[in-house]
Amino acid sequence: MFDPEVETNPWRDQVRQDDAQYRRQVGYLLAHSAFYHSKLKQAGFATAEEIGGLDSIEKLPFTEKDEIRASCSENHPIGTHLAVRREEIVRIFSTSGTTGTPSYIPLTAQDLENWVVTSARSYSASGISPGEAIVSTYNAGPFVAGAALGAFDRLGMTHVPVGTGNTERLITAIRLLKPAAVVMTPSYAAYLAEWAEERRFDLKGSSVKRVLVAGEPGGGEPALRARLEEAWRAKVTEAMGIGDIGVSLWGECEEQCGMHLGGRGFVHPELVDPESGAPIAMEDGARGELVLTHLRHQAAPLLRFRTRDHVQVWSSPCRCGRTAPRVRCIGRTDDMLLVRGVNVFPSAIREVVNQFMPEVSGMILVKPQDPGVRQEPPVPVVVELAKDSAADPELAARIQKRFRDMLVFTAQVDLVPWGTLQRSEYKSKLVQR
Ligand SMILES: [Zn+2]
Repeated sequence: MFDPEVETNPWRDQVRQDDAQYRRQVGYLLAHSAFYHSKLKQAGFATAEEIGGLDSIEKLPFTEKDEIRASCSENHPIGTHLAVRREEIVRIFSTSGTTGTPSYIPLTAQDLENWVVTSARSYSASGISPGEAIVSTYNAGPFVAGAALGAFDRLGMTHVPVGTGNTERLITAIRLLKPAAVVMTPSYAAYLAEWAEERRFDLKGSSVKRVLVAGEPGGGEPALRARLEEAWRAKVTEAMGIGDIGVSLWGECEEQCGMHLGGRGFVHPELVDPESGAPIAMEDGARGELVLTHLRHQAAPLLRFRTRDHVQVWSSPCRCGRTAPRVRCIGRTDDMLLVRGVNVFPSAIREVVNQFMPEVSGMILVKPQDPGVRQEPPVPVVVELAKDSAADPELAARIQKRFRDMLVFTAQVDLVPWGTLQRSEYKSKLVQR
């Protein structure tokens, strides 16, 4: 464990410490963040006393990414939530987001340090240890992933960055440098499994004993995980963060039952109903959208930020000894389809299809017919067959039935030959409109 004293601290003690820290952060926001000064005032809160502690955080308005974006201008390229002088900023990351206009994420030296500590806790939960080598496959460049990669040197590992999209370089590094672990998107891990099989490279016999996946949902889905673990003969655990709040905020331990909050003490998590915004208790099995609040951020702190990540939560004790709650991402609001009142996530569709391996390749593409979220059934789903497998109407019928039984929606399954759908060395595209 990277930070045993913190990571095993009883959660109720953490909440008490977080409450004090939150009150300080709120005072800081009122004094230094023009964005929150005006937003909170409009919502009827002029003083820190009126805002109170974490037990009344639900009274405060949410912060949406679009509000931050709308506050940007030539004079305020970062946004009016910037709460420090420009000379206090040591790093500015960018995210492209989904709209194309980059948004800037500034960090002070202390913010950056907190991000690295968070990532170190989250990634070390996977069981990687000092002295081992790890190969990373992210093109950090302008992106927040750069801070996450800083965790590996912090953990005392030999970090070998090979970047995205260079499979030959990656495989050579695995062959020659014999890393104990690799870190990549689950899509790339799946792509490499096929790549290795095609070229008869012995992935199972390689030195890699842990595959750390992040960057998109999927690594925690049982069928996909089983498929990756089998192909790599390695343990697969996942991590997740969100650029505006922090990288690798969550990291899964060896128990593989959701990702612990590695960012504890830096970030306060809430679960809300995505439609009504009503709070949902963070108990075992609860599902909702994650809302995150910075507790000790300096450069551009956010309050009740809607992540658009839909998660399942566990709060019961974990055998690893970490006391922080755990989550698994079910999907993102942006990808969600609503079929006759039922929420359907493309990653859940993929998970159901993965249960039909080895008859299918595991690649899918959802093709919504109606613009927007609401879809009239049946929803077309392209399912790729395994190599040397022929289209069989009976298989399509079985998959459709499984969709009805498990996800409660009606699909039109279209089976296509192996190799039809595009593989990704980064993140998979599961939806095509
Ligand atoms: Zn655990």
